[in-house]
Amino acid sequence: MSNDAQFVAGVLDSVPGGILAVDNAARIIYLNRGFADTFQVAAGDWMHRPLAELARHFQSSFSCVDGHFDFTACISQPDLPKSRELALTRGDSTIYLREDSGPLHDARQAVVGRVFAYRDISREKAIDHMKSEFIGTASHELRTPMTSIKGAIDLVLSGFAGDVSADIRELLAIGQKNCERLIRLVNEILDIAKIEAGKVKLKLESIDPFIPVEDAVRAVASFAGQHGVKVVIESRDVLPPAVLDKDRIEQVVINLVSNAIKFSPANGEVRVRVACDGPWFQCSVIDQGCGIAESDLPKVFGKFQQVGDSPRMGGSGLGLAIAKGLVGEHGGGIWVESQVGRGSSFSFRIPLSGSERKSEPSEAAASVH
Ligand code: ADP
Repeated sequence: MSNDAQFVAGVLDSVPGGILAVDNAARIIYLNRGFADTFQVAAGDWMHRPLAELARHFQSSFSCVDGHFDFTACISQPDLPKSRELALTRGDSTIYLREDSGPLHDARQAVVGRVFAYRDISREKAIDHMKSEFIGTASHELRTPMTSIKGAIDLVLSGFAGDVSADIRELLAIGQKNCERLIRLVNEILDIAKIEAGKVKLKLESIDPFIPVEDAVRAVASFAGQHGVKVVIESRDVLPPAVLDKDRIEQVVINLVSNAIKFSPANGEVRVRVACDGPWFQCSVIDQGCGIAESDLPKVFGKFQQVGDSPRMGGSGLGLAIAKGLVGEHGGGIWVESQVGRGSSFSFRIPLSGSERKSEPSEAAASVH
């Protein structure tokens, strides 16, 4: 090895993380000390061997978060950078790694292979987990006193403690409304913390998937009335039963329909469409409201995201993030199509059989139809 090559090899071996490079035929052409240490392989044993063999070796020595150690998706699109998180379990210990990969270029910028970089993110994961646990516990502790404050106000307003003057009644009503708002917010924070900590326990049952949709529409009827908006469930074919958590799917539909009501003009109409598409149950909530700008579409499923004029409409910006999490827990996906000034259509689908527990890669995306 030349002095230059030795120097570069020394630098790469000192990098705190794993590096692996393959040629265009997916043969290993380089791995650094960090890679060898992280994956517990001897560098010399693997040089010039096919990447597929290394993947097979990993499959037998590690169990991975997505069940397999598949490099093929990266190799099949060599020009694209890709990232993913891996959880590797060996015996009792699990390490979390971030894998970033991209094309390997030669001096003339020709793609001559692919390079993979691995960073241990176990600490970040542990901190994330502690943060979710803390939020979960704190929210729980907040909810109990809030509920009893609201209970006391409700009692006074009901006349239980005697007559109250109109002025006091007005002030108590403000307290009651804000208590309800705070309890809703705490419940939403609790939900998102549970989803992020992977602690949602679905109560699955095999039922007519129309039932949670119908119950959701019933639950928001008075809210629709206050806004002067009509909610219509479109007629439907008889649907096969679906394996789902009724309360959680109802929660998703309540969120979508109440958003549709909130962003509709007075006298507007919200349509709810349910259907089966092969092995999927699909539900769409369509409004003729203000719509969402194309550039904002990818944001709306994020936490605390409110776009356009919506911050002044109240709300926490957590509802769609929770809906996305709950649909994901069912192995389904959620998406939105929208056009400013013409309305939005939020749809989700979940597998009828309840067998697809792994979340499909769904996102906010399409617009303009
Ligand atoms: P919240 O409604 O509490 O603000 P959500 O997470 O349910 O939070 O929604 C996030 C944001 O997405 C809303 O604040 C609004 O900007 C946008 N949005 C959601 N549904 C609609 C809709 N039907 N029409 C227009 N904008 C919507």
